[in-house]
Amino acid sequence: MSRFIATSAIRGAHAIVGEAEQLLNDSLKELGPDKPVGFPNTAYFLPVIYGLTGHRVEKLGDLERPVRHARGLLPPVPRENLWLPYLGETLDAGMATLFAEESIEGVRFARGEQPEVRNGFRFNGPIDDVQMRSWGIQMVDGRMPGFAAIVGAAKSNEVAVKIVRELQSKGLLVFLSSSVNGRSIVDQLLEEGVELGYDTFTVPFGSDTYSAIYALGYATRAAISFGGFTAGNTRDILLYNKFRCFAFALALGQVDDKKYATAAGAISYGFPVVADTLIPNINPTGITQYEHVVSMPFDDIPGKDDVERAERLVQRCIEVRGVKIKIAKIPIPVAYGPAFEGEVIRRDNLRVEFGGKGGMCFELLSMKDMDAVEDHKIELVGPDLDTAPEGSKMPLAIVVEVAGRKMQKDFEPVLERQVHHFTNGAEGVQHMGQRDITWIRIGKGAVSKGFRLKHIGEILYAKLHEDFSAIVDKIQVTLYTDPEKVKELLAQARQIYIERNVRMAGLTDDAVDTYYSCVLCQSFAPTHVCVINPERVGLCGAYNWLDCRAGFEINPRGPNQPIPKGRLIDGTAGEWEGVNQFVYEHSQRAIERFTVYSLMNAPMTTCGCCECVMVVIPEANGVMVVSRDDYSMTPSGMTFTTLMGTIGGGQQTPGMMGHGKYYLTSKKFLLAEGGFKRVVWLSANLKESMAEELKEVCEAAGDPDLLDKIADGTIATSVEEVLAYVTEKGHPALTMDPIL
Ligand code: SF4
Ligand code: ZN
Repeated sequence: MSRFIATSAIRGAHAIVGEAEQLLNDSLKELGPDKPVGFPNTAYFLPVIYGLTGHRVEKLGDLERPVRHARGLLPPVPRENLWLPYLGETLDAGMATLFAEESIEGVRFARGEQPEVRNGFRFNGPIDDVQMRSWGIQMVDGRMPGFAAIVGAAKSNEVAVKIVRELQSKGLLVFLSSSVNGRSIVDQLLEEGVELGYDTFTVPFGSDTYSAIYALGYATRAAISFGGFTAGNTRDILLYNKFRCFAFALALGQVDDKKYATAAGAISYGFPVVADTLIPNINPTGITQYEHVVSMPFDDIPGKDDVERAERLVQRCIEVRGVKIKIAKIPIPVAYGPAFEGEVIRRDNLRVEFGGKGGMCFELLSMKDMDAVEDHKIELVGPDLDTAPEGSKMPLAIVVEVAGRKMQKDFEPVLERQVHHFTNGAEGVQHMGQRDITWIRIGKGAVSKGFRLKHIGEILYAKLHEDFSAIVDKIQVTLYTDPEKVKELLAQARQIYIERNVRMAGLTDDAVDTYYSCVLCQSFAPTHVCVINPERVGLCGAYNWLDCRAGFEINPRGPNQPIPKGRLIDGTAGEWEGVNQFVYEHSQRAIERFTVYSLMNAPMTTCGCCECVMVVIPEANGVMVVSRDDYSMTPSGMTFTTLMGTIGGGQQTPGMMGHGKYYLTSKKFLLAEGGFKRVVWLSANLKESMAEELKEVCEAAGDPDLLDKIADGTIATSVEEVLAYVTEKGHPALTMDPIL
């Protein structure tokens, strides 16, 4: 144990704890002990304090205990030359630092000083629970290996961008905080026009070192929700992170006492620290899986230029943490990874686009005989994209043909839908829509790096092989830009889309004898089972019956298993013997009965990632449906997030249930309670975004004006208001059988 690091860390911890005490005392005097304290949109209070001690901080007065605890953990500052044989005291100082830092951020929230706004830029502050869960799912299914917490500022803007791009292309989440001499990596990235935010997997926490605590708050919540630990289970939470969360800190630029202190806290989570400056290494392993602190002075890294050095630095971080990177290198001239999926190509950066208003672009994936497909044949028919004038539109047809012994015609749409997700992963390529409403925009940067249309083929080829090797053996891609040819093929494609629609419409619950399960969310909701039938998608909206059937073919031991329906018990509630048995066996024997069409009678369990939540409103004899992207108050007295905290985690709660938004349009929607006519309140954004589909549902229900009779957040946010509105409108729910 280096005495230098120990001394600095302990000295830093003393300073931070002192600051927390001072700030808390001043704020208590100013605002009083009852002033509410909390991070936004989380059910985990101040998560590090809550997770590691079980203590719930809800108001300023609640902070006295953790701050006192931090003080109690502080070891005396060692004399400069004292040799400390163990990490113990430094780790205690690290823990004290974390409690103090989180307390400081809590007070700042109470004071309205967080999230930070600096030079007109609004930092993100802590990650909300919804985002934490959605990333958690990606960690569970292996799409995302972990996160990198960057602290400080890089040698140059160029290096900053390269480091972040490297991390993104490896699928790592990137958290950004702190500064060096008043300059932060966030400044560097913003100056270079890098888009920051949840969509690009980069979260700017704040410009000071304290904001790095949000990374550990994220890790703590992930352990509680995905590891299934209760708050206060310190050891388990820390061990879970050590073994399951592939995270590390990367300190760029000078490391001061406060950064050492924070790093000492990160080490307790098993997260090693790599610094790009000369600091003493701490090599013995134990708390972290590998080295604790690794120094890699930037200018000493071998490489022909800074960009290459940046690449090696990231490589070293990954080795130190033992991060498993699954993402295969795709032979295209731009970076590739899930972090680029959320990228937006704005007008001034647009080189060429396909589809969109007045354009013509479609994609079609079909199954062919083995002999009819030549693997890895990628062809372009017509001019390439660099021949088009800047900012113009070209027609495009993406025709993918696949062959495989286990491929089935029904899997065509399942694979075709991946085109969106796959092409979006390329840096500088934005893909929207599907089928004949596909709209692709390509940025100037991508084209100048050499991106051409055949690279779309390369991406599809590589990714389809990677993700669907169990059903696909051969893949060929043809891209057409010749206008006459695209037009001709489009007419044929439309015919095929219509045939598929007809086939899908005929695929009803009654027409099949097998449903499918999805238990992907059991990693954090151990008793949760999604039963997915042709007329009802999974809660998250991401998987339908066909997806699950394909999922089972791809991975017979995976999360999607066939469920033979067995003997029918109740057709209206949707209860079958086979389903009950399956759910019982796969819910750790926690759920004995389970209906697929009822809210009141043994409804499905709810995990944490559902698109909508439905809650009974007895006073109005109906139900309300709130969507995840509706942040406002609902008539139940709870927001979506609070509702999720109440029913999520794999529970079965009669009267409350999560579901996918397209369940609203199903003929089997709430069959047991009378169908769509039971909906008395619906999130305004759903009313708007699904207006057309819902109109059809209302017509089918024999009440074409029904949608207008349903209240929303702009009309009613309390039960009384809902009741007044539906009474005035003569909503049919009022005269239906009592729902309770
Ligand atoms: Fe989770 Fe259900 Fe979606 Fe599967 S279908 S990921 S279990 S919510
Ligand atoms: Zn889920």
